Amino acid sequence: MQNYIGGQFEAPVSGQYIDNYQPATGRVYGRIPASGPADADKAVAAAEAAYPGWAALTPAERSHWMLLLADGIAADLEGFARTESNDNGKALSIARSVDIPRAIANFRFFATAILHFSTEAHPMAGEAINYTLRQPIGVVGCISPWNLPLYLFTWKIAPALAAGNCVVAKPSELTPATAHRLAELCQRIGFPAGVLNIVHGLGADIGQAIVEHPGVKAISFTGGTATGRRIAATAAPMFKKLSLELGGKNPVLVFADCDLEQAVATTLRSSFANNGQICLCGSRVLVERSIYNRFRDELVRRVEALRIGDPMSEDTDQGALVSAGHLEKVEAYLALAREEGGRVLCGGQRVTLAGELAGGYYLRPAVVEGLTNDCRTNQEEIFGPIVTLQAFDTEAEALALANDSAYGLAATVWTQNTSRAHRIAEQLQSGIVWINCWMLRDLRTPFGGVKQSGVGREGGWEALRFFTEAKNVCIKY
Ligand code: NAD
Repeated sequence: MQNYIGGQFEAPVSGQYIDNYQPATGRVYGRIPASGPADADKAVAAAEAAYPGWAALTPAERSHWMLLLADGIAADLEGFARTESNDNGKALSIARSVDIPRAIANFRFFATAILHFSTEAHPMAGEAINYTLRQPIGVVGCISPWNLPLYLFTWKIAPALAAGNCVVAKPSELTPATAHRLAELCQRIGFPAGVLNIVHGLGADIGQAIVEHPGVKAISFTGGTATGRRIAATAAPMFKKLSLELGGKNPVLVFADCDLEQAVATTLRSSFANNGQICLCGSRVLVERSIYNRFRDELVRRVEALRIGDPMSEDTDQGALVSAGHLEKVEAYLALAREEGGRVLCGGQRVTLAGELAGGYYLRPAVVEGLTNDCRTNQEEIFGPIVTLQAFDTEAEALALANDSAYGLAATVWTQNTSRAHRIAEQLQSGIVWINCWMLRDLRTPFGGVKQSGVGREGGWEALRFFTEAKNVCIKY
């Protein structure tokens, strides 16, 4: 792969490359540029050169270009899905039904949202009128993680472009392939050169260089909380606009008055979809004591039935984890859970598949019980196929357990009692609350977390506001 700068594919200035591993086999299957500050300089220069032209287009013209990108991905959905599955290890069925359709939706949503974007007026009766202009910021940086590679990459790029900015974007070094495929699409359709620049490499090198670059006026970042802290420390003294979508330790609250079948079926998904590698996955399942045993036994039965296998196979529920390092991290948390007194009810063993898949990063999904909420297993983000179960007796206790976390991204509540649902939703310290569902997403809604799960909101008007600067104009009568 090469960097995509100013509409051209370019080797990194260093001439150095990083190996890219295929999680399904554990083999090196490609190389990506090891970019650094000199590449950031080139990408920012290309974006700055393109900016006046792109910002001067009408929203309808920008929308047109973005819809061409959406159409291009849609026409190549299978190709993008296979590339994503190959690069990330996720089951092809998920890439095909979730990741790539959502990337298309991101472009379509913001390409059309910008046509309806409007600003406010504040009349001062008989004296003056204020109106707000929302103008693009200039060159912005978009940095995304490996778990939903193209999905989260486009979730940032689409509103940035729609609002009239030019972008320097960096996908995760673990999953660069669909971003590269998007760059090829840009070139194929003649997407205006320099408007979207995609650079590859390690976070500490090219990621940090983008954040530090004085020409980059805003940073939209999704990734780990430690990385977010570091980015904030760099960007805050430069007064850059920052949107940080960070880690989570999401609670799932299951009350005895829930629809048990739906609660179990969806908790299976909310725990293990994408191998638990979704920031919105519920990792702490809190169950009312009177149904605890029934819920636990049924969940464990279904977890044991999940099929771990070749990501490309249609029968696979769970593909490979993203990397050898991540597999080791998840295993270390299982060992910690045992040390802390947890009982592993199922899973946690490595799976060795046949043939060329023998070196892949496969793990049986695990369910753990017997831990208190204050232990490290229940406080630290694992981001893999492990959930813990805890029993509670009262609503107040459930709420206290749910909120006893440094994080506050997403929470799920299972109850048929509407009053309780509203009451709990109001009190949960969480940016997102799902009642009797999970990951039901309307792209207009604010998306983001509280506490150490982040700063700012993405989605809908929130994203378009983030990627614009508001200017008040006051006219005296
Ligand atoms: P990460 O923080 O290691 O990396 C994310 C991105 O940041 C990568 O592209 C990486 O190269 C880059 N990066 C690393 N160091 C950098 C630096 N100093 N400066 C600039 N960029 C740098 O995260 P990850 O392991 O790729 O992703 C997993 C994490 O992402 C989990 O914590 C998960 O909860 C979080 N996540 C959050 C959301 C959300 O919406 N809140 C969504 C998905 C994932």
